[in-house]
Amino acid sequence: MKPAIPAVKDRQHESQRARFGPSTQAVHGGRRANPYHAVAEPIVQTATYSFESTAELCAYKDAYMLGAADGRIEYGRYGNPTVAAAEARLAALEGADAAILYASGMAAITSVILSMLPTGAHLILVGDSYRRTREFCLYFLRRLGITCDQVPMGDYEALEAAIRPETRLLVAETPTNPYLRLLDLERFVEIAGKHKLKTLVDATFATPVNLKPLEWGVDLVVHSASKYLAGHNDLLAGVVAGEAGLVASLRGPLGVLGGIVDPQNAALLLRGVKTLALRVERQNQTGMRVARFLEAHPRIEAVWYPGLESHPDYAVARQQMRGFGGVVSFTVRGDLHATARFVDALTLPQIATSLGGTETLISQPALMSYYELDSEDRLALGIPDNLVRLALGIEDAEDLIADLDQALAQV
Ligand SMILES: *Cc1c(COP(=O)(O)O)cnc(C)c1O
Repeated sequence: MKPAIPAVKDRQHESQRARFGPSTQAVHGGRRANPYHAVAEPIVQTATYSFESTAELCAYKDAYMLGAADGRIEYGRYGNPTVAAAEARLAALEGADAAILYASGMAAITSVILSMLPTGAHLILVGDSYRRTREFCLYFLRRLGITCDQVPMGDYEALEAAIRPETRLLVAETPTNPYLRLLDLERFVEIAGKHKLKTLVDATFATPVNLKPLEWGVDLVVHSASKYLAGHNDLLAGVVAGEAGLVASLRGPLGVLGGIVDPQNAALLLRGVKTLALRVERQNQTGMRVARFLEAHPRIEAVWYPGLESHPDYAVARQQMRGFGGVVSFTVRGDLHATARFVDALTLPQIATSLGGTETLISQPALMSYYELDSEDRLALGIPDNLVRLALGIEDAEDLIADLDQALAQV
């Protein structure tokens, strides 16, 4: 007889401890047993789920009504084990009780806001937000009798002054696009608390490696998981994370609105997110080096990167961010055409919108995101013709800098 080895209960429970670092959480966070003992999360590619008998169906319905269905799912729009595994991983990374995945970042943002606000409510959007978020809050919601005021980034007096009796929600991004402005989370949360308002922060550009808004008291954090979380420019998804009860209240509306993520994409996201901390650490380092290189270059007019002393939110960055991210924005000395020549002279960065993937992407916002406007209207929105947004991948910094150098020589 070999000596008996005592059984250990809940070994995987250990892996959910908040004290683990982001690399550990990215691989183990939320890990649970699966029926196959597979190390890689099984992809449960099914649209619906069957019951052994009518009696089992009725037992499930009874349990469901008591809120005790215990993981049993009726239909793919209401849940999926692969999706649940990805949600548990992302919740662990954010230090959240729970998370919900959506079909895209915009599906997450629109579903959450639609779920939280009744007709007649008012919300406040802190300026410099993602263009489609702004469009949704300012124009789309108006059709439903929900009004929105936009206040400038960094003006906390204006934020507080915009609060009305009907105000329910404050929405902000940090860092913002394209100028990487940072929300002072301490002041933002303090104002929300004083007026008993919920807060929603889009931290897509930050990633949980560089910032966990929930640690600062934000109610819900949202990400376009299409960017850093998935990290390989190969899928669209969105995620919302926060306290258990609040996140649970978003499940019913998701079943109605229907913007769920596909199990295949959830599996790709689970695979991609394992390297999140490795990728973001590299992107933080390359970001800092590229920003310093550009700032010293005579053909560059201005650089926006929160790790530079010249950035308007450098002090907040030092206080609140663990790293400054992989996006660098800058203006080239020259007009729209000179800037386009620079972009075309680059060999490594691909001309594409989006960010946070393994490949470096570059865009001239005047032509990529605001093509239909003329120069003056773009300038009124804060988008000069010579602005460039560089979204760094994981290539070698030396290669990217050499490429930028040769392209700038051609302007
Ligand atoms: C890309 C992006 C979104 C939208 O996400 P999708 O996944 O493209 O729908 C929202 N917010 C920010 C900050 C983004 O960068």
